This record gives sequence, structure tokens and C-alpha cells, in this order.
Amino acid sequence: MNSELKNEEFVLSTRPSDQNEIKSAWKLQPCPMAIITNDNEFILETLFVSVDPYLSSGLKKSALGGDINPIGFVQISGLVARVIESKNSNIPVGTIVTGRMQWKRYILANGTEPRFRILQKSIEKNTIYDKIGFSTALGVLGMPSQTAYYGILSVANTQPSDVVVISGAAGAVGTIAGQIAKKIRGAQKVIGIAGGENKCDYIVNELGFDAAINYKEYNTKDKMINRLKELAPEGITQYFDNTGGFVTDAVFDIIKKHGKIIICGQISTYNNSEDDPSKINIYPNYLAKTIYRGLSILGFVCGDFIHRNEEEFYKDMPVWLDQGTIKFHETFVDGFENLPRAYEMLFTGENIGKVVVRV
Ligand code: NAP
Repeated sequence: MNSELKNEEFVLSTRPSDQNEIKSAWKLQPCPMAIITNDNEFILETLFVSVDPYLSSGLKKSALGGDINPIGFVQISGLVARVIESKNSNIPVGTIVTGRMQWKRYILANGTEPRFRILQKSIEKNTIYDKIGFSTALGVLGMPSQTAYYGILSVANTQPSDVVVISGAAGAVGTIAGQIAKKIRGAQKVIGIAGGENKCDYIVNELGFDAAINYKEYNTKDKMINRLKELAPEGITQYFDNTGGFVTDAVFDIIKKHGKIIICGQISTYNNSEDDPSKINIYPNYLAKTIYRGLSILGFVCGDFIHRNEEEFYKDMPVWLDQGTIKFHETFVDGFENLPRAYEMLFTGENIGKVVVRV
């Protein structure tokens, strides 16, 4: 291996107190080059890294709960990498893999990493990844798309009679959830909520949503309620919530009797300061509102479905992509050093579809 290769990593260096500080949460520092010391090990060169909203739960105490990472922790997320040296006979040089691994340019691995998966061996040709790119293992063929898949097909169990509203509709999860509801399950109406006219145009004209609402224009609960009533006079039966906030307040007030509220994410709350409980998304009134209308609130996490991936997600999604039924978009950010900036984009809404850092 080239002895000139220099390794770098991102470690957690501060606990951001609000959205303006999130991109300075990590610092880039030199670290030792990965060296194989055991059989079965291999060295990876990072190609693509995923930034995801859930990373916020490791940065500080947040609405999501869970363990907070210690200062100095090397950040972990989904990534795609190429094997550049190997003592593992199953994973030769040139193999492209994915898994949840550390934010390093070069990584020592042995195939037991969480969500480890071989995408393509160097001798293989014409895999789906040759057609649509290895970065898709982080988006439409990865975790966000699995979330949309199980969220709509299993948790919501959307039917042709359903009128579905999806918040965060132009993002990695929302774009796929809306298409599965509309094109795979045949929902009578799918309305996406997104932040900007360009995003609304994209999800309606390119992805086939029936309608879209720009929440930056319809920017209060009352305006949102009126617009939803105009677009769905028959009544909303399902709400797939990625954001929380006033959009969720609005849908909650008008969703039909026996409606389902699927809590996929609450991104509007993730950067709230833990010291400011008034901003935390507790919404106790929601619970009282469920009683007479018999509403169901269903939280879920995609990790609970991974045991079904080979039989379900990985059988269906490549076919739907190949047929052109499901479309996707990626927002690339170039440069390993720009990982924090890419993460920030999730909260400023600069992305359409999946944000991927191209190292
Ligand atoms: P994404 O939607 O690709 O990117 C985040 C988007 O959120 C931004 O583009 C922005 O779009 C919107 N946003 C940011 N701040 C907002 C705010 N204050 N109010 C309203 N919208 C805001 O991200 P993703 O990876 O697909 O994740 C979407 C949601 O799904 C997140 O809540 C995430 O935590 C959740 N998720 C859940 C699971 C699970 O297993 N349950 C798995 C993956 C993701 P706009 O321009 O439209 O504002």
C-alpha cells in the first residue's frame, strides 16, 4: 500500500447549543494510518459518507433521547468504501462495501461492523450499483429508503382509500415514502409538505405526488389547515410525519376519525436546547385529541425491520428502480472536510433527496 497515504478523522469537539453551532460540533484531526494486524482484516478507503438527522441524538441531550457521545468520539454513520488492502479472502482488494463506520479517510475493518454489506466485488459487473452509483447504498438503496418502505408498507399499511400527508416530503425519506404510497399502494391522494417552491414542483412534477404545500408560504397552523382542507376536502386518513412543528399541529386538528399518525421523525425539534423546555416538542394536548377521534399515533424505527431486508426491501426496491417506478435525487457535497457542512444542510433545508458527501 502507498506509504504516503495520510489519515484524518472527525471527532466530536463541542456540544452545539443551537442550529447555528451544529457545523462546529466536530473537528478534523490527523490520525494514524490503518494497519492490518489480524487475518480477516482489510483496509477501506472511504468513498461516500451519509449525514443523517439522527446524528443529532449523539451530539447532546435531545428530544430523540438515547446515548450522548463523549467529547473526542470519532463520529460514526453509514458510508461506502473500497477495499485497498486485504487479509480477508472473502473481501478482496477492489470490493465495494457499506456499513456504519467511523468518519475516517482510511478505516480498518473486518466485516463485523454494524450494517456491513458487500455491494460489489471487483470481478462483478452490471450490478444495480453500476447503473445508479454506489452512493445510492446510503439513500434509495439504504437506510432512509428502508425507513420509507417499512413506514408506508408495514407501519402505515397505506391502502388505495387513503389520503396521505407527508411532511419533510422532498428529503431522503419523504421522497420515497410519497412514491411508495402513491405508486406502489395506489393511495387516492398523496400531499407533500416541503420548504420551497422548487421542492414542491419536484415532488409533484417529477415524483408524482398529487399536490404539495410550501410550509414557508403557508407558515402558520391556521394557514396550513385551510390549505390542507382545500387540497383534501375528503379528509386526511394518514399523516407520515418527518418534521413535527406547526405542520403537525395543523394535521392533528383535522385528520379524520380513526386516522393514523406515523411518527418517523421530528427534525424541527432536534437542535432545540435542552435548557429551553418550552421549545421541546411534548404537545400534551395531542393525547387528549386522540380520544374521541380514535386516532393512532405510531412511532417506529427502521432498525426494527432490518431482519426483513433481504426478503423484502432488497428484492423490491432494485426492481422498482430498474423499472423507473421509483425515482430519486441525491445532493452531493464534495470533500471529506465538508462533512459538518453537509450535516448542517439537513437543517437549513438545502437538500433535495439524500445528502451524500463525496470524499
Ligand atoms: P431529509 O428529509 O433528507 O433532510 C432533512 C429535511 O428536513 C431538510 O431538507 C428540510 O427540508 C427539513 N427540515 C429541516 N429543519 C426543519 C424544520 N425546522 N421544520 C421543517 N422541516 C425541516 O432527511 P431524512 O434523512 O430524509 O430524514 C427525514 C426525517 O426522517 C428526519 O426527521 C429523520 O430523523 C427521520 N428518520 C427516521 C428514521 C426512523 O427509523 N424512524 C430513519 C431515518 C430518518 P425543508 O426544506 O422541506 O424544510
